[in-house]
Amino acid sequence: MNCVYCGSALRPGAQFCPQCGGLQPAAAPPPEPVPPAEYPAWPTPEPPPVAPPPPAYTPPPAYTYPPPSYGPPAAAQGPVGLAIASLVLGIVNLCGSFFLPICGLPLAFTGLVLGILGLKSSQRVLAIIGIVLCGLSLVIGIGYLVLVGGMGILANIMEQMQGY
Ligand SMILES: [Zn+2]
Repeated sequence: MNCVYCGSALRPGAQFCPQCGGLQPAAAPPPEPVPPAEYPAWPTPEPPPVAPPPPAYTPPPAYTYPPPSYGPPAAAQGPVGLAIASLVLGIVNLCGSFFLPICGLPLAFTGLVLGILGLKSSQRVLAIIGIVLCGLSLVIGIGYLVLVGGMGILANIMEQMQGY
């Protein structure tokens, strides 16, 4: 049997520890699972005072340029705006490409770029839809150009053939 405080050996049934004088619990119950520390734990040294963290550097508020009055205003509102602008351009282009495919080409290309830029925003789905729509109208526009060009060449050939 050992002292519950200092761990030194005790006479069986001793009430007090001869070493530290600690009052021993009644001898009947076996000693509680003795804490692994055989020696009284040293007082843990106070941690050295931690220097207060330096104040977080707060960057000066970035100067935001007022949105330009020209162009789709949504394009000036950051990536989310870019995604929405791409979507809008894609829809407009897809509708317009059936009527004015050639005029829509630069717009479709713009929408494509806007959509790619807008991919970084939280509105990824919108940007992807915009990219798809713009890409589609780009394909339609190019296809129309090829078609018209091909027809022109064909007509040229026909004319030349008639000339002979
Ligand atoms: Zn003791």
